[in-house]
Amino acid sequence: MRKCTECSGSMQQLKAKTPEGVEYSYFKCLKDGEEIVDMKQLHEVAERYRTLKKYNVKLSKWGLSLGLRIPKELVEKYKLKNEKEVSIVPEKTGLRIITS
Ligand SMILES: [Zn+2]
Repeated sequence: MRKCTECSGSMQQLKAKTPEGVEYSYFKCLKDGEEIVDMKQLHEVAERYRTLKKYNVKLSKWGLSLGLRIPKELVEKYKLKNEKEVSIVPEKTGLRIITS
């Protein structure tokens, strides 16, 4: 059982959801209501956020290059336009598109 850092009362593990609907757990002191999130809980919620929105799209051949079709929802969200210049940043696990 985890002890509260403020009053050393017993802490209960509870679950809640972020405004985005991502579930997370945290500890709440039964005595004074102090709430904390430990590293394990933090990593869990970070991982859920990472996989929250994933878009699977197919590449299509465009001359010698490959074109990536960006879903309408993302076009609107990031205010993308035809001919707009974006940057592609190569990373260890993939490519990151910087839109601004
Ligand atoms: Zn407490």
